[in-house]
Amino acid sequence: MDKKTVFSAIQPTGSIHIGNYLGAVKNWCKLQDEYNCYFAIADLHSLTTSLNSAASLLRSNIFDMYCMLLACGLNTSQCTFFCQSGVVQHSQLAWVLNCYTQYGEAKRMTQFKDKSQKNSDNVNVGLFAYPILQAADILLYNAHYVPIGIDQKQHLELSRNIAERFNQRYSPTFNVPDLLIPKVGAKIFSLTEPLQKMSKSDENLNSYILLTDDNDTIVRKIKRAVTDSGDRIEYSKDKPGLSNLLSIYCAFSECSPAKVVDIFESASYAQLKEELSALVVAHLEPIRTEYQRLKLEKTFIKRCMEEGADKACHTAKKMLDKVYKKVGLM
Ligand code: ATP
Ligand code: MG
Repeated sequence: MDKKTVFSAIQPTGSIHIGNYLGAVKNWCKLQDEYNCYFAIADLHSLTTSLNSAASLLRSNIFDMYCMLLACGLNTSQCTFFCQSGVVQHSQLAWVLNCYTQYGEAKRMTQFKDKSQKNSDNVNVGLFAYPILQAADILLYNAHYVPIGIDQKQHLELSRNIAERFNQRYSPTFNVPDLLIPKVGAKIFSLTEPLQKMSKSDENLNSYILLTDDNDTIVRKIKRAVTDSGDRIEYSKDKPGLSNLLSIYCAFSECSPAKVVDIFESASYAQLKEELSALVVAHLEPIRTEYQRLKLEKTFIKRCMEEGADKACHTAKKMLDKVYKKVGLM
């Protein structure tokens, strides 16, 4: 039986944090066996917020992100892993899809509103069109499933609407993709402002734990994480800081939320933080070691990137040709 297809991507806007890992990347590694997987470094997307940063920084971020995802467990013999800019069809399909997306529906995207508030000096058209490029990423490979964090749900809805509209206007062309989110970890919050999602682009270094953070830094960030008043360990809307730490524990330990509350029933906040630090350190240390090893393998990484892009291009070209033909381009 043919395997179903999965597509997902991550921006090289900085190092990956535990939110990216638990919400997306950890899941990607598990899916490689069962699905026909395409994973990308969304470097074109990252141009939407990189106006003032050096080209050399973006280049090293792309390289580092590629190494990190391999260190997390992506396996290029099981999945197609590439950089988005290495497959020209992404931008080409995005242009076509721009013309099948209404201004009004793109304007509703909350990420555009959030990011344009945060980067008020750089509200570029690319930032506005970002979700349509994302739709092109997904539809180009005819993905059935898109494993992402919950913050991307609205963008996936837009991709579905664009696919349905195109299919109706012409004839069935794209699969209408479904969201695949983990039961726990789909939205990890900032350690310093637990009502905000953890983000790579957050200026506060203490708001996230990076997969590149050393053990002492991990322990220090968890120790400093904002918790709430009271001393009872429980999930509660009134205790977003504590609930976030419990979710992180659940996602790393793969224990159910009820079990985790049980484990810490008579513990103090400080004990929970200590146990959580030990768990996170134990998970991240081997990934970090492998990452440091891979960063020295420049020729190998470059070859993997090229082979990944060639493989992706092969599929992408077929879909783009089909789309061009359907809309009447020669
Ligand atoms: P940026 O701030 O630059 O947008 P980001 O941290 O949001 O960075 P992305 O590259 O936009 O990271 O997203 C990569 C993947 O990580 C997506 O699938 C996204 O849904 C997921 N993700 C991002 N933040 C979180 C989070 N806090 N919790 C769970 N998943 C997340
Ligand atoms: Mg994001």
